Amino acid sequence: AEKVFRTISAARPPLLVPVRLQRAGYDVQIGAGLIGRAGARLAPLLPQKRVMIVTDENVAALHLPALIAGLDETGIQHQTITVPPGEGSKTLAQYGRVTNALLEAGVERGTTVVALGGGVVGDLAGFAAATTLRGLPFVQIPTTLLSQVDSSVGGKTGINTPFGKNLLGAFHQPISVLIDTGALATLPAREIRAGYAEIVKSGLLGDADLFEWCDRHGQAVLAGDPDLQAEAIRRACAFKAAVVADDEREERKTNGRALLNLGHTFGHALEAELGYDGRLLHGEGVSIGLRLAFMLSVRLGYCAQADLDRVTAHLERLGMPARISDTGHEFSAATLVRHMRRDKKMRDGRLSFVLVRGIGKAFTCRDVPDEAVLATLREDGC
Ligand code: NAD
Ligand code: MG
Repeated sequence: AEKVFRTISAARPPLLVPVRLQRAGYDVQIGAGLIGRAGARLAPLLPQKRVMIVTDENVAALHLPALIAGLDETGIQHQTITVPPGEGSKTLAQYGRVTNALLEAGVERGTTVVALGGGVVGDLAGFAAATTLRGLPFVQIPTTLLSQVDSSVGGKTGINTPFGKNLLGAFHQPISVLIDTGALATLPAREIRAGYAEIVKSGLLGDADLFEWCDRHGQAVLAGDPDLQAEAIRRACAFKAAVVADDEREERKTNGRALLNLGHTFGHALEAELGYDGRLLHGEGVSIGLRLAFMLSVRLGYCAQADLDRVTAHLERLGMPARISDTGHEFSAATLVRHMRRDKKMRDGRLSFVLVRGIGKAFTCRDVPDEAVLATLREDGC
């Protein structure tokens, strides 16, 4: 009987999160084993029974065989382009390699690009899809928790340049997003934590229920409980989909999509100072940045100390990075503020921040005094 039960639960229909946009609509499908079933899930959506898979070396070794087996079963033709793992692949050079490979393979307007990997692969493959033949259909199969809850939803694609991160890019919505929670079983614990920071961020910025849920179940999500991971991903994707539907191209001057940057001004400054060399993952910077954003909000009189205390307690109980000292590196407050001034979100020379009036109540603030930011950094030991 147990075996029958397992078979049934493995074939359980995926959780669906609809993403409804002005010109496009698609579903995010979430479930265990979806990579192996991608052929069947995608077949009805593909304009042509042909896909080009873009992946990285790590993910290819772990999850490409399952994807290929499923595509073969459903008679979908495929070729694979593999890039080295890591942020270093979001470059013009790799973009050139990928687009050359697409063109050399003779892709047509109906050939679909499938990104199998984390945010790096999704952003690179998505940008290649957006631009090759002026736009190829695109499918995201995100394999890191960060890409499952954040980068695969919303349509932002792009690469880095020597002038900064994500400075070349396009909005290009996928025709489908398949999230296989099974992929998380091979992901290092540190990467799971980094992705979790973006989930708790969503709760803190606009969904107090999600934060409550995280407070109750976050530990199990980090420990690898597949059902709770699926539920966390569903909630985070639904939240992001709603924000994106409301402000698809980040055009709102206040609030809107910009709120997704809660904790990011601080986080980016920490990342920038360490030079994106892997010593600090993006999500680790965000985790610390979330607490700093609450500290700054308390300092400016917008937020009650009790809410900051709840955030700190949550992060600490889960073993998430919470303080600048948790990076294991020393930073100068003045240097960090200089990084913030270089951030592309700067407007008219004023530091722009996402602040909070409490848990789930974020707002954008365009004139935060440098002194308050410096004092907050110093309070955290800078
Ligand atoms: P990543 O893609 O580099 O993946 C992290 C590491 O995990 C890599 O070494 C990768 O090979 C490995 N990996 C991936 N899946 C695995 C699995 N299932 N098992 C074992 N190893 C696996 O990093 P990331 O954190 O997923 O994404 C970061 C990128 O996402 C950044 O470039 C960032 O700019 C981008 N991003 C984009 C958006 C957006 O809206 N487009 C949003 C957030 C972040
Ligand atoms: Mg982020």
